[in-house]
Amino acid sequence: MARDYYEILGTSRDADQEEIKRAYRRLARKYHPDVNKEPGAEDTFKEINRANEVLSEPELRARYESFVEAGVSSGRGAPPGYGDMGYKGGISADIYDAFFNGGFGGGAGQQQTARRRNGPSRGEDLRLDLKLEFQEAIFGGEKEIRIPHLEACTTCKSTGAKPGSQPQTCSTCGGAGQVRRNTRTPFGNFTQVSVCPTCNGDGQVIEDKCEACNGAGRKQETKKLKISIPKGVDNGTKLRIGKEGDAGLRGGPPGDLYVYLHVEEDAKFRREGINILSQVKIGYLQAILGSHIQIDTVDGPTELNIPAGIQPNTVLKLEQKGVPRLGNEVSRGDHLLTLQIDIPTKVSQEERDLLEKLAKIRGERVGKGGIGSIFGNVFK
Ligand code: ZN
Repeated sequence: MARDYYEILGTSRDADQEEIKRAYRRLARKYHPDVNKEPGAEDTFKEINRANEVLSEPELRARYESFVEAGVSSGRGAPPGYGDMGYKGGISADIYDAFFNGGFGGGAGQQQTARRRNGPSRGEDLRLDLKLEFQEAIFGGEKEIRIPHLEACTTCKSTGAKPGSQPQTCSTCGGAGQVRRNTRTPFGNFTQVSVCPTCNGDGQVIEDKCEACNGAGRKQETKKLKISIPKGVDNGTKLRIGKEGDAGLRGGPPGDLYVYLHVEEDAKFRREGINILSQVKIGYLQAILGSHIQIDTVDGPTELNIPAGIQPNTVLKLEQKGVPRLGNEVSRGDHLLTLQIDIPTKVSQEERDLLEKLAKIRGERVGKGGIGSIFGNVFK
């Protein structure tokens, strides 16, 4: 699972630039491959650098925060053959692509112009829209998804060539993927560069194609994945699941999968950020005399004390019964209950007698001309 950048640097999410710089320097000194020879130190060093690249740059940081890193709880591990995700001291290729090449599924042309066509190229990022129930978004959990994507062909180890054979360097272009032609015109000599017609720009030709993938090196497959939904996600939260997009080409890293969440509404609860809102109805006698009632919260039923003399529309706060804060789930929002007082539209003769007696004690004029209701004419 891709780790959260703040977690890597050991800072809080609201750390300022100075704190991030300090945390980065401290960790970079500790894990620099020149000083730290422990196994894994180099990987940690790369992770630290990657986190710093993004968090130290306000614009990148803002974009990073619009995604939530989410993990896969089962399925395959990292596919072989792309160890390093391309950290070269600049912005890591995967982050860079996700942030700047933006769109999903439309990046192929861009990639081809930006990279040598016969070099490794990163797989496409994919988008999946996922519906969550109200409670699932609050408490997170595992969710099974099916994602159609291109997987690296295991038969040919993504070379596209039949096992035992190798793709050959294209003899027409010598592996460049391009051919040049000099044209003489009345205006001078021009060199025209075009895509090699033999290899289609790949620089390689596969004479014996792998039968499993028909020479593509990748296969369209629908994969079942169990992803872990973090606690506290909301409608519109975007989860980034590293390396579950399309497989890369010629040993390039796979793209990422972005899961856009859509949270269903609930009949009882409404959500406002990390707070849960709901209404509770009590009887007018309960409002006057106070009561102890059972109410529903997202954690299940709980007892609530209603103090005597409570007024309509009073908002009662149940602390820590709201939504766990995304990224810091020990802190939870509140549950805000708006109290409604149920005034009966009909009363029995016995109730009416008692209420009229009560009105007399309180010196309130009631019932004159009221139709079916003693409350019809109070203080006219
Ligand atoms: Zn194959």
